[in-house]
Amino acid sequence: MTITNSAAKTKSLGIYVHIPFCVRKCAYCDFLSFANRDETVHRSYACQLSTELIGRSAVYGNKYSVDTIFIGGGTPSLLSPILIDAILDTIYARFRVEGDAEVTMEVNPGTVDGVEHFTELRNAGVTRLSIGAQSFQASMLRFLGRVHEAADVTRCYALAREAGFENINLDLMFGMPDERLDTWKADLQTAITLNPEHISFYSLQIEEETPLFGEIMNGKYTPLPEIDDRLMYHHAIEALCRAGYVHYEISNAARPGFASRHNLKYWSLDDYLGVGLGAHSYINGRRFANTNIWKDYMGADEHGALTMWSHENSQRDDIAEYVFLGLRKIEGIDLSRFRRQFGRDFWEIYREETHMLMERGLLEHRDGILRLTRLGLDLSNQVFVEYI
Ligand code: SF4
Repeated sequence: MTITNSAAKTKSLGIYVHIPFCVRKCAYCDFLSFANRDETVHRSYACQLSTELIGRSAVYGNKYSVDTIFIGGGTPSLLSPILIDAILDTIYARFRVEGDAEVTMEVNPGTVDGVEHFTELRNAGVTRLSIGAQSFQASMLRFLGRVHEAADVTRCYALAREAGFENINLDLMFGMPDERLDTWKADLQTAITLNPEHISFYSLQIEEETPLFGEIMNGKYTPLPEIDDRLMYHHAIEALCRAGYVHYEISNAARPGFASRHNLKYWSLDDYLGVGLGAHSYINGRRFANTNIWKDYMGADEHGALTMWSHENSQRDDIAEYVFLGLRKIEGIDLSRFRRQFGRDFWEIYREETHMLMERGLLEHRDGILRLTRLGLDLSNQVFVEYI
């Protein structure tokens, strides 16, 4: 494993590695993932990832230094740690990886059986875990179709700590039909008591073409009223801030110094390379996505045409993305930085829509910073759409 400490600073790059396999498909999930536990398939996919990484490194390897790696999915913890090690080895061998790079892997609590699993992941170079807890309520986990039980989360978390992980995120979900505020409060309290460095809290989204959408349509479930969902959301912010977490993005809070460096790239319009089936990238003003067709992805060689679409951002595209992604951050966007980055005055471009949003109480402008208000956090999509 070669780790380069980039003294001569090049542009930094995040690498996202997509693992599309799961134990089974959850009822609400519209991610690019499918049930597959076949180790032979996992091995072939890991080989193909290495092939892609070798091809991509010929283009980007010397121009960037990698400061974050995120292995997501899907369920990356379904893969044997040996395969995770092999994927990371290819990255370390082909790219310039900074010595203090943040290397995150998503973990499903139902897929880890012992401390050795985590020890092997640490030895492979993983520095941060994101554990998909979602809920500590048996009924909610059943409703979501998760493969784990509440006790698996605490067990998985304890094993990760035992293996020495010092940077752990817990993913929580709220706003399920029939969920009550007091059970959500209890979930949050359980998570806070575990004391992870980072907590993500997402409201359940009902996506078309998922089994859950069908069940809502045929009346099996009634979505939680919006007002209850928002009460849960604001309770989360208050409880987490009271416990010493910093609310830094619409759905994310962290102990000081533990914000997700990789995810901040997405909200700051920084460069990232996505590898794997259907993975998306944004590099040097270009957005592109890999094919999401299995046989095409698996059939490509290192010079193969993996790209399904590609779009060269105009400056106007970059400006719009910078604004609506940047507003996801609670600190908002610094308008003098905006001017330095784009050579344009923010107000010349967005005066009308921004004043309208401020009059509606969704945005506030103070000391050169533009940010969402408390109401704006609830209606953020209505804000973002004005800048697209
Ligand atoms: S584990 Fe995650 S990626 Fe897999 S089906 Fe469930 S929600 Fe989707």
